[in-house]
Amino acid sequence: MATAQRTGRTLPRDLPKLAVRIRRCTLCDLHASRTHAVPGEGPEDAAMVLVGEAPGREEDRAGRPFCGAAGKILEEALVRAGIRRERTFITNTVKCRPPENRKPRPAEMTACRAYLVAQLGAVRPRVIVALGQTAVRDLLGPAASLRKFRGRWKAFANIPVLPTYHPAAILYNRRLFRKLVADLRKARLRAEAA
Ligand code: SF4
Repeated sequence: MATAQRTGRTLPRDLPKLAVRIRRCTLCDLHASRTHAVPGEGPEDAAMVLVGEAPGREEDRAGRPFCGAAGKILEEALVRAGIRRERTFITNTVKCRPPENRKPRPAEMTACRAYLVAQLGAVRPRVIVALGQTAVRDLLGPAASLRKFRGRWKAFANIPVLPTYHPAAILYNRRLFRKLVADLRKARLRAEAA
């Protein structure tokens, strides 16, 4: 995968250096209201990358992804699917919390996208799981639809992408949990078979 670039500068090719750059980043307005940027976490040799939408309040405070209520649901779903969280790399489409947990704006996603591309280039996972509509659009294009694509294999830069529900959606509709687990299990089996 080509090295990602921002404003003419080459981004680092390894996760720790990328995290340093992300924590210092002021490329979009979200930097002004963040407490901590949240680059993501997980090993560089992870077979699976999970991409969510954006940090929430707890994540902004802690500087870690998925450590609030949605994170608990994600962890429960990962366990049920036979996946160890610490063996996955978990990140978001934008690395700084949008105020009042609004959705990231297109300009913010565009500004932040090179970091996600660079992280995917560093990890080179066997599969990507796109958690929710925002991640689905970021990875698969503005016309991509979670409703149409959920549970169906797509691709980003020749890496298989499986769109599924964002764990926060389960807070409002517990019946989606079973489908989230089924999709994560499907992603695990594909990663193991690759
Ligand atoms: S959201 Fe991304 S582009 Fe915007 S300031 Fe944070 S790291 Fe930089």
